[in-house]
Amino acid sequence: MRCCAEGEAAGEAPSSCPRCDVVGHEVGRDTVGAMATLVVPAPLLVHRTYRYCATEACPVVYYGRGGVVLGRQHVRVPVNAKDSGADVPLCYCFAHTRRSVAEKMDAREGPTSALIAREIEAGNCACELRNPTGRCCLGDVRRYEKEVAHRPPGTDFARDRKPRSRGGP
Ligand SMILES: [Zn+2]
Repeated sequence: MRCCAEGEAAGEAPSSCPRCDVVGHEVGRDTVGAMATLVVPAPLLVHRTYRYCATEACPVVYYGRGGVVLGRQHVRVPVNAKDSGADVPLCYCFAHTRRSVAEKMDAREGPTSALIAREIEAGNCACELRNPTGRCCLGDVRRYEKEVAHRPPGTDFARDRKPRSRGGP
């Protein structure tokens, strides 16, 4: 009795990550499908819901029922919760990275979060398709802006581990 529109009743999804055991928030199939690379077999993308693992040191990004696990290598974009690089996006809809957010602050151009808030208001976001969390980035961007604002002068803003010339997103 299986079909494409497999419902919630078809088997229990694990609530905690099979690798790190932390409970992730639910994400819809749209997000996982948009994020999955082409090496991920389509049958792994048929469930209606999955969970997102935000644990920094854990390689799992999504997990779902039937033992489905998608790791960082199965996701099209770098996941900022698991990658502290300066060129990793904090805002995936408008490609604001740790570096660009910090540079705007250094140049006193105002907070990136205000630009994003304006786009949200205009209805221009596509978080459930662009952000691996499936959620709005504004909280993450504001948290990072606070972090940058509170660092002592001269601190390497993103603790960059990657070469600077990696090209834009
Ligand atoms: Zn995990």
